[in-house]
Amino acid sequence: MKHDRSNALYEQAKKYIPGGVNSPVRAFRAVGGTPFFVKRARGPYIYDEDGTKYLDYVCSWGPCILGHADGRVISAVREACGEGLTYGVPTEKETLLAQVISEAIPAVEKVRFVSSGTEAVMSAIRVARGYTSRDRIIKFAGHYHGHSDGLLVKAGSGLLTDSIPDSAGVPDGYAKNTLVAEFNSEKSVEEIFRNHKDIAAVIVEPVAANMGVVPPKEGFLKFLREITEKYGALLIFDEVITGFRLGYGGASEYFGVRPDLVTLGKIIGGGLPLAAYGGREDIMDSVAPLGSVYQAGTLSGNPIAVTAGLVTLSILRDNPEVYLGLERKARLLEDAFKGRGLTVNREGSLLSAFFNEGPVTDYRSALKCDTAAYANFFHAMLDNGIYFAPSQFEAMFLSAAHDDEAIEKTVEAINKFNFIQPCPEGMR
Ligand SMILES: *Cc1c(COP(=O)(O)O)cnc(C)c1O
Repeated sequence: MKHDRSNALYEQAKKYIPGGVNSPVRAFRAVGGTPFFVKRARGPYIYDEDGTKYLDYVCSWGPCILGHADGRVISAVREACGEGLTYGVPTEKETLLAQVISEAIPAVEKVRFVSSGTEAVMSAIRVARGYTSRDRIIKFAGHYHGHSDGLLVKAGSGLLTDSIPDSAGVPDGYAKNTLVAEFNSEKSVEEIFRNHKDIAAVIVEPVAANMGVVPPKEGFLKFLREITEKYGALLIFDEVITGFRLGYGGASEYFGVRPDLVTLGKIIGGGLPLAAYGGREDIMDSVAPLGSVYQAGTLSGNPIAVTAGLVTLSILRDNPEVYLGLERKARLLEDAFKGRGLTVNREGSLLSAFFNEGPVTDYRSALKCDTAAYANFFHAMLDNGIYFAPSQFEAMFLSAAHDDEAIEKTVEAINKFNFIQPCPEGMR
């Protein structure tokens, strides 16, 4: 497999862009080696600059649920581009997309569009604080909510120890208002509520998908609904990944739990930068210009992104069999990974194979993975033209375009891989 042109482009990129990439995980640090540079993509396939074709299980980290370059989305976007790229003035399509989202997710009575998941979560937290007049939030260890200051915090070893930021440049003061609980542990949440009076909100990935896929245990989300109500705090579902992925109604429909606020991103932009936060009308009405919580954006509700989102969500709404297909194909992959000393977690089409005997139920158990063994697997698959995420701690993403032939090829490659081989020294 040739990598000459990708390698040259990577060297060039590193001169002008930190690490050569515009988002860190793209740099392949967790698996070693150098990233391939992409020329184009179509359906389930992505083609690099050296002409190699890969079956893509990253799907731009979630957005491409219809596969790459879906003809219906592309032609709608082309047409919209002819009308101008941005106006800074309201358009009818924004209302149409808001309506589609609200009809899909009953918890979302009103919605505000922004441009990234990070922005959506940051804004939702601000709204929760403004609405409750409280400062502190609870998040879960290993859950990712974008890179805003107050959310780059995971747990130390003790659950209720001081919160320390994960990144340089985040003042301790920000992190102090972020309390970290253990996912799937009712006790850890109860303890925080008992010790702190001013909790504005609990934010959770209803299915954790940024430490590998870790589903909530039975009743855990319902417990979060009850305890937040008891203490007058809001419940925020960060559905940037699960929204329109677990099913058309997202996690709140899938699990039958209604949060106060929901954040969305990835799929709702159909591949363009679009995200949103929404929820109960009385809470959302605290946002400017109606209320005192300020939030704004020059490109928010961008007409091209809204067009791509509107077409993508309409296709999902009108073709519910897409979700049955995703589920069926994810189950085939799940089965292929079983019986090999791995822990396979799956919820709907969200799937992870942990190189760890498991069970994996929270951050601590996720971290027990043999990441060197994963790196070995990753490169073996890449050599077979199959691109899984360049990190053990990411979900595998399927799309409607992954046909049976693609899945069979993947299962075959998994079957051929020797899962018990020792890792080459160089990989460790
Ligand atoms: C990706 C992600 C975000 C951040 O979205 P960006 O568009 O990358 O800023 C937030 N929350 C969750 C759960 C995510 O998976």
